[in-house]
Amino acid sequence: MRRLSIIVPCYNEEESIPLFYQACAQAVAALPVETEWWFVDDGSTDGTLAQFRALHAADARVHYLTFSRNFGKEAAMFAGLEAATGDLAAVMDVDLQDPPELLAGMLEGIQTEGYDCVATRRVTRQGEPRLRSFFARSFYHLINRISKTEVVDGARDFRLMTRQMVDAILSMREVSRFSKGIFSWVGFRTKWLEYENVQRAAGETKWSFWKLLLYSLDGIIAFSTAPLAIASITGMIFCLLAFVLILYFFIKTLIWGDPVAGFPAMICIILFLGGIQLFCIGILGQYLSKTYLETKRRPLYILKEKV
Ligand code: UDP
Ligand code: MG
Repeated sequence: MRRLSIIVPCYNEEESIPLFYQACAQAVAALPVETEWWFVDDGSTDGTLAQFRALHAADARVHYLTFSRNFGKEAAMFAGLEAATGDLAAVMDVDLQDPPELLAGMLEGIQTEGYDCVATRRVTRQGEPRLRSFFARSFYHLINRISKTEVVDGARDFRLMTRQMVDAILSMREVSRFSKGIFSWVGFRTKWLEYENVQRAAGETKWSFWKLLLYSLDGIIAFSTAPLAIASITGMIFCLLAFVLILYFFIKTLIWGDPVAGFPAMICIILFLGGIQLFCIGILGQYLSKTYLETKRRPLYILKEKV
């Protein structure tokens, strides 16, 4: 019988954990696999760890990791995948926004249809603020235009993978992780299951609009160098423009003299060019800072306890 590892990153989720475990245990009971859970406590400050301990005491198939502080969901997923021992691994959110009932269909996709990975995407964004949906959609549109790695709109981190694919993901040691890109970058045959958006079972989302925005910028920088090209192309266009204007004014002055007050025009041009230059240096800075962080080779997380 195949072994299935379910990886569950948790950050301050004491209310959701019992609900999740109950629903998930029920869903896997019918599956032809042996199951183990790897709950990851991403530096929670509430009773999350106590919930893990209780589950572990009641069910020997439940394992857990705790971090020394909050390292983020990406690090928690990585740690869980590293600890997993199964031939198959699934990543799931603890808030039941990833319905455990889908696991049966996902397993079928791998075992009978021969896929390496079955991933899920939500087709609606119901219950999400409009502005947030708009930005999310624009982000997917943009990143798919400027990156060679395909990032599927609405893709969740909820997916079932073979050991081979898990190992491929673990071989990518980059510090600033954008898993939607990483999953797609490693390749393998992926089947997509679509489902309607589900509301959180309990607790609150950990993602503010601002956090999501920064995360999307990280994603773009991690999977595309197009912004750097944009910086140099903008530079070239402005050089060309400047050259043409110089010629134009030179000839114009020779023919008609120069009756124009240059000062206001000059201020506008200086401010405009200054802005463009800072913008382009900013783009450079973003890539430089990422390079700097990657070269430090810091661990992705600090483990406090592994049970
Ligand atoms: N999470 C985590 N570390 C964090 C933030 C979130 O492990 O720093 C976990 C969280 O406990 C949940 C999952 O990641 O299991 C998804 O988080 P959330 O539901 O807040 O995100 P959303 O579904 O709103 O995108
Ligand atoms: Mg959620």
